[in-house]
Amino acid sequence: MTVTQTLHRIPVRPWRWVPWLIASQLLVVLAWWQFGWAWGLVLLLASHALFVVPVFLPNSRFYAPVLSRVPGPAVWLTIDDGPSDETPAVLDLLDKYGAKATFFMVGERAAARPERVREVLQRGHGVANHSQSHPQARFWSLGPGEMAREIAACQQVLADIAGKPPSWYRSVVGMTNPFVAAALKRHGLTRVGWSARGFDGVGCEPQEVVQRIARDLAPGAIVLLHEGAAHGHNLAIIEAVLQQLQAKGLQARLPQGTA
Ligand SMILES: [Zn+2]
Repeated sequence: MTVTQTLHRIPVRPWRWVPWLIASQLLVVLAWWQFGWAWGLVLLLASHALFVVPVFLPNSRFYAPVLSRVPGPAVWLTIDDGPSDETPAVLDLLDKYGAKATFFMVGERAAARPERVREVLQRGHGVANHSQSHPQARFWSLGPGEMAREIAACQQVLADIAGKPPSWYRSVVGMTNPFVAAALKRHGLTRVGWSARGFDGVGCEPQEVVQRIARDLAPGAIVLLHEGAAHGHNLAIIEAVLQQLQAKGLQARLPQGTA
């Protein structure tokens, strides 16, 4: 078995949580009946938390396998939410520091700027699935039909532009609900989490963001970066992270034999 095969963690049993859900609720009913409402209610709430909390844990394997580190001495830079106006500048930065990265793209944005997607690929980087419309406020609550469409439509857009479908997928804001795994299985996608992130969303302070990422830069790290955010600091953050990698003697490479 090659390294590449071991990295691809396509869900095998995407509905394995269903029997557990049913069993847990039968247990709640049984407890309610045997020990009264107080115990029943406690178990009801606890059992619901058990199924809800993993949705909000980006590296949780509860609903789907996830890759949160890679083998080998290099790090994997992942850049979310493009393509954007900043994509060409990001590519120049990556060239300047001799780094390779995978761009987790939003299908609608890729469809609007196919030339940016092609340029990313031509310059030796990877392209991956980050949903069709990036519905960040409600991605966690999408039902099975809408979730399947979000993942399938992005896959189609990127496959049409690139000539082959992506192998990697990242959940919007890292939220993986019970209906993600079935779509991943259908498209042969592996979910990618991260091991280094800077929380560069709301109230972005570039220096603090870079410090948080730098702390976790080590061989095998998967680094979460963004492009095109309204706060306008993404390019500065990416360059500072590339400088940190250089200072630590770490190389940014795509996972072996994959794009
Ligand atoms: Zn995103």
